[in-house]
Amino acid sequence: MPGQLERVVDDLRKFYGPSSEPTVTKPFEQVLWENVAYLVHDERRARAFALLREQIGTSPEAILGASQAKLLGVTGHGILAETFTAKLRAAAATAMELGDLEAIARGPLPQARRALRRFPGIAEPGADRILLFSRTHAVPALESNGSRALQRLGLVAAGGSYAQVHRAGTKLIAAELGPDFDRLIETYQLLRRHGQELCRRSQPLCEGCPLGDRCAHYAGLMRWSSGLKP
Ligand code: SF4
Repeated sequence: MPGQLERVVDDLRKFYGPSSEPTVTKPFEQVLWENVAYLVHDERRARAFALLREQIGTSPEAILGASQAKLLGVTGHGILAETFTAKLRAAAATAMELGDLEAIARGPLPQARRALRRFPGIAEPGADRILLFSRTHAVPALESNGSRALQRLGLVAAGGSYAQVHRAGTKLIAAELGPDFDRLIETYQLLRRHGQELCRRSQPLCEGCPLGDRCAHYAGLMRWSSGLKP
């Protein structure tokens, strides 16, 4: 019998359609994806990344050899463009220092995580997403939109810190889905999309949500609107 999370993912797949494949999968390209532009939506980030790929290249050597003007053309898709040219260079320098990042990612998990966390903008959740998308380690990955949706649904305890919610969410994913790359990637993508489109940070669109019948947050809102305590 499918678990609660599996049923959520099934319903999200029916609602949104099959999840898209990750735009970039190679470990260093995923690091660059995080650092090409700050605070932008996926489409704009994809444009910045495409420009980097076409006009500069995505090898550490190409980035270290690029002019400031060319890098600004990429990072200018977001705010703090100067800061992010420095981050791209720092990422390239770290990659040169580490050596073959794909081999490191395929190596033992603790070392792979530690290496990835040396890059700008990559904390533990980001490192695990890189390992998952590159299909080097089938670890559960979850970002802030997905964490928020799981918390509101009541699948992880409400009220904890971001780190606690993330830990509980990844534990649930691992327990229900196991080390299956396809299912873990799909779950990451669908939960993220749900958190971006309906289960938004402010004013979630609960009335159109396919998960409303089992959602703790929505049930609380309904009780509140009918005059009962949430
Ligand atoms: S019913 Fe509302 S709070 Fe619950 S999962 Fe859907 S959008 Fe999020």
